[in-house]
Amino acid sequence: MKPTRRDLLALGGGTFAGLLFTPAPWKLLNDSAKWTQNWSWIPQPARGPVDVKYTACALCPNGCGLRVRMAAGWPVGIGGAAGHPVSRGALCPLAFGAHQLNWHPRRLRQVKHRGRSANWDAATAAFQKASSEGPIVIVDGRPGRAASAIYRRFAKEHDGGYEIVFPPEVRTLAPYAQWSGVPVTALAYDLDNARTIVSFGAPVLDGWGGPGLARRWSADADLRLIQIESELSRTASLATEWIAIRPGSEAALAGDLARVLVEEGLVAVRGPISETAAEETGLSPEQVRTLARTIAANGPALAIAADESPAVAALNVVLGAVGARGGIVRKAAAEGPEPCAKPPRVVLIDSTVPWDEANTWGAEVFRFTAWEGDRNSADWLLPAPGFLEEVAEVRGSVISAVETYALSARLAAPPAGVKGLAEFLGASVESEIQARCAALLREGKGTLWRPVDGNPVPIQSVESAAKVYDELLAGAVWCGDRPHDRALRCDLKQWPTAAPSRRGPGTEWSVPVRPPLATKLYQESDLRSEI
Ligand code: SF4
Repeated sequence: MKPTRRDLLALGGGTFAGLLFTPAPWKLLNDSAKWTQNWSWIPQPARGPVDVKYTACALCPNGCGLRVRMAAGWPVGIGGAAGHPVSRGALCPLAFGAHQLNWHPRRLRQVKHRGRSANWDAATAAFQKASSEGPIVIVDGRPGRAASAIYRRFAKEHDGGYEIVFPPEVRTLAPYAQWSGVPVTALAYDLDNARTIVSFGAPVLDGWGGPGLARRWSADADLRLIQIESELSRTASLATEWIAIRPGSEAALAGDLARVLVEEGLVAVRGPISETAAEETGLSPEQVRTLARTIAANGPALAIAADESPAVAALNVVLGAVGARGGIVRKAAAEGPEPCAKPPRVVLIDSTVPWDEANTWGAEVFRFTAWEGDRNSADWLLPAPGFLEEVAEVRGSVISAVETYALSARLAAPPAGVKGLAEFLGASVESEIQARCAALLREGKGTLWRPVDGNPVPIQSVESAAKVYDELLAGAVWCGDRPHDRALRCDLKQWPTAAPSRRGPGTEWSVPVRPPLATKLYQESDLRSEI
């Protein structure tokens, strides 16, 4: 009998139904999943005793306290250190998956020269040749560290320069520096004592103040954050109040608020007022008046811009926030840049410099980095230690009025062939850090907070500098005394011209790569737009 089409279909259907009800395909699927997970070249999670270590996060300057779960000597889970004086137990989404960063596909594992594989010998030879032909400039993204002191010394010894890429927070302080004559590195925001923050688009709860500030804000109903921004950013979504204005009209609104504050006698200061009417903001005069009254009734109030904005700075002068508790205060000046007299022949960029910093030097650029980002403009990419792969200092936010000092411990072994800039220059960061611990003890100011008991103790009670170093490596944080001398005076002769706020590079808080867990969190929570 000749088989018909119907017979073939019946046979195929029967075979398919039979396969569904036999265990064979499911068993095969299960076995192949296990085999493929156990191929020798697939990295296996470490097995061994589980332990907990405390340390500081060095991914950004905030220096949040980490509680790191270790298995067989490797970090396998990250959480916040409860009661930490900087982060108050909170972390940003990036940190929760940061232990995955060292295995990120964009991890730089070998030297690259203009996109091609190279090696340390070639990079060293190129550096030596170029540095014999002209000046060296070293660029630092987090001044004031032990590594910074090494860079500064090296640049000086070689008639070179030391440059700092300041974050946008520092640029917001530039108008006060200009009006008062106090260097920008000696100015800070007293955020801990402000009751109302009026943010003109500043990412206050998303990078600036770090997760610790967001935690404080959510826990204290008496604090008010008014976010003035055209888009519903993460800070805007977490703020007490979000006021949407037209993009680019921040300076006009600052001027209008100052005018209402002075005209209604809501502030003691009688300063120059803005001549411009603020229709361009999209707010009604009644809305501006209500906002001005709210700010005046809930002091100390402080206005913060996203970048350099003389109008927002002038609003602070009118509010009486300059040189006052909860406003802009003075602190001990940090060391500034030391420019090179001649154009550099070689530029060395530390791994703390934001990835999007453009090559404007016209020199041969050597960039140290743990991960490759987009838009690379360096000639040489040199693999640097990644997350928790080196002992590093964390000095806290440069705009904070209270100084803190913590160490990020080496909890993971770096891959072979990884080197930091200080090591490349032949110096040891760790011995410089130990000298700083001795100096902290000698000066005897401030307290040491320890994660084991959560009680701050005076630094003088620690028996030796070696013990200070050990405590810091075990997750302790040194907190300086609050500045007593807030004296700062800015006299405004006239209202600054209503130029739109300047937004320089790095206004957005960015990292070259994000771990898969953070990527998922960001995408699903809509915390950041792209990945
Ligand atoms: S805010 Fe910065 S320091 Fe804090 S957890 Fe995130 S990356 Fe680390």
